[in-house]
Amino acid sequence: MYIVSGCLAGVKCKYNGGSTDDARVLSLIAGKDHILVCPEELGGFPTPRPPAELRDGRVYNDLGQDVTEGFIKGAEKTYALACERAAELGQPIEKAILKAKSPSCGCGLIYDGTFTHTVVPGDGVTAAYLKKKGIEVLTEEDL
Ligand code: SF4
Repeated sequence: MYIVSGCLAGVKCKYNGGSTDDARVLSLIAGKDHILVCPEELGGFPTPRPPAELRDGRVYNDLGQDVTEGFIKGAEKTYALACERAAELGQPIEKAILKAKSPSCGCGLIYDGTFTHTVVPGDGVTAAYLKKKGIEVLTEEDL
């Protein structure tokens, strides 16, 4: 079973109310058990919402508000929901395919906190959390 960022597969959960459907992801999950998640919505944030980026280990939105706690809650809920779904299916969580560069879902590269579309090495909060739980995390760009 895969964990998949909802915004890659038609869920309009992006900060701006849109999605970023990805043909590679849609093809990969066709006929494959998966759970679609949006860690930011699971963390209690509305859609649309102000964009946020990671800086020095904390997450700030573009209003300067520290929203780290909601991002951590979203990571925990994502993992809990995925474990529930895996148990229902009687399958392991094989991997997570998450949206590149997001402060929640990005893996390997994330925006640098300056809101200038600059990327730096790093993982989003949920990607890092899932990795700590031993789950392989990829982005759509790895497919
Ligand atoms: S990148 Fe992750 S947190 Fe952001 S909208 Fe997509 S699923 Fe939600």
